[in-house]
Amino acid sequence: MNTRGKKKRSDKKNILFVSSEAVPFSKSGGLADVCGALPVALADKGHNVKLVMPRYWCVNKSGRDMKVILGTMGVPMGRETVWCQVIGTRKKGVDFCFIDHEGFFGRAGLYDDGKWEYHDNAERFGFLSKAAVQLCKDLGFKPDIAHCNDWQTAIVPAHLKLKELNNPFFSDTASVFTIHNIGHQGVFPREKYALLDFGEENFTESKFESWGKVHFMKGGIFYADAITTVSPSYAEEILAPYGGAGLTPYLERRSGDITGILNGADYESWDPARDEFIPRKYSVEDMSGKSFCKRVLQERFKLAVDTDIPVIGMVTRLAHQKGLDLLTPVIKDIVRDMKVQFVILGTGEKRMENFLKKLPSEFPGSIGVWIGFDEQRAHLIEAGSDLFLMPSLYEPCGLNQIYSMKYGTLPVVREVGGLKDTVEQYDERQGSGTGFRFNDADPWAVYYTVGWAVSTYYDRRHHFDAMKRRAMKKEFSWEDAAAEYERVYEKAVRRRSSWEKNSFQRGRGNTIF
Ligand code: ADP
Repeated sequence: MNTRGKKKRSDKKNILFVSSEAVPFSKSGGLADVCGALPVALADKGHNVKLVMPRYWCVNKSGRDMKVILGTMGVPMGRETVWCQVIGTRKKGVDFCFIDHEGFFGRAGLYDDGKWEYHDNAERFGFLSKAAVQLCKDLGFKPDIAHCNDWQTAIVPAHLKLKELNNPFFSDTASVFTIHNIGHQGVFPREKYALLDFGEENFTESKFESWGKVHFMKGGIFYADAITTVSPSYAEEILAPYGGAGLTPYLERRSGDITGILNGADYESWDPARDEFIPRKYSVEDMSGKSFCKRVLQERFKLAVDTDIPVIGMVTRLAHQKGLDLLTPVIKDIVRDMKVQFVILGTGEKRMENFLKKLPSEFPGSIGVWIGFDEQRAHLIEAGSDLFLMPSLYEPCGLNQIYSMKYGTLPVVREVGGLKDTVEQYDERQGSGTGFRFNDADPWAVYYTVGWAVSTYYDRRHHFDAMKRRAMKKEFSWEDAAAEYERVYEKAVRRRSSWEKNSFQRGRGNTIF
């Protein structure tokens, strides 16, 4: 019998997981949280997982556990071979392998220098993807699954199908492409296509071409054996014209192969009962630590220290997607009209940073802002706030609302994507629910929903407290999500094994290509 966590030999898979970021090594957003946790959950289920990612400057190369895996590795890029080394470490059952190429990855930023995107991102991530496949060959690691994530690694399936099709080493390798955010697609000037070396015959509108440019994500959608995205609602949304950000027709062609799997949360890092970042731990049984955290938060953000005033927290990339444009027209009205405080942590678009930076001096004691990326402050905001605002225009999954619930900090969210799938609407008659949702992408919807949450805090505190307890008991486990990925892997393997290789090679085409 196949028990949980133990696999029959035949169920155990070699999984090549490729990502541009993963905690605890590098992070710009939720992609890192997912790519740090899902491989561990898969390893816990008995799979043999190698996670391949770049060795940025933030990765400590000379760390005690870091070993050289391959002193030199040659990666074919267009007509050239690019050389790198591979270093790595084993953590929680996963082999983390870092592609160490100083020219491409020896930088402070992951994708940009804080102002501009790096001009060579096509080369950098094209190289990462090809290096991941090369690594398998050089190590003799035959993957059953090659799992790539977002545009940065979207060319892995194409590389397997176009460059390795006749290589028996990869004859059983199925590919899975996960879309974490369709808003970033990896579109580059036409001349960058040459370095992928996929042939002019594949520079077509259905595969890599888009308005004369080369499009990495399109290639992933076309060539992967299975496609996933990070919540069931987002899977539906990307198939609708606006939600697909221009890719809907290509996704529609693959609609039978698309699955929405809700992300889990890493409760080792995001649980107030064990969080090392917060000033006092607490749990649903003993909430006293939460008001202590609230006081520290108010002090740290120079707010009036008063635990009776509700604090609304935000931790976010300052990007159009996150709906800041729905908040900025009404945030001043909210603090003028309601007895409430805001703490906002974020970095991103300069126009938003500039707007937010001015607020604390305009509303001293009521609005606290920190511009930057700061892990510790992020945890403190989760713990010390009463409400957590996410007015996103779209949200593939969203992790902060999931973390917020664990911290008894009720989410106020726009009902899109994963926000809709995770936050249960408050019902004023029964007191049920785990947060406050609104639908309209309109600043006044933000104003009134915040007002509804704040009035619940003041006027129906028994409801508010019951919701907090309910939210804290919610579990979004990676174990469940990993089980769903296992089902997708099986599907991908079935599709892979049904290829009519010969007919494809003779150019008669098959249903896949
Ligand atoms: P996205 O990946 O679209 O940015 P998610 O909600 O999925 O959004 O994940 C965001 C992750 O990044 C969370 O772990 C959040 O705490 C973290 N984060 C975002 N902005 C900051 C910041 N300024 N400082 C620290 N952590 C941040």
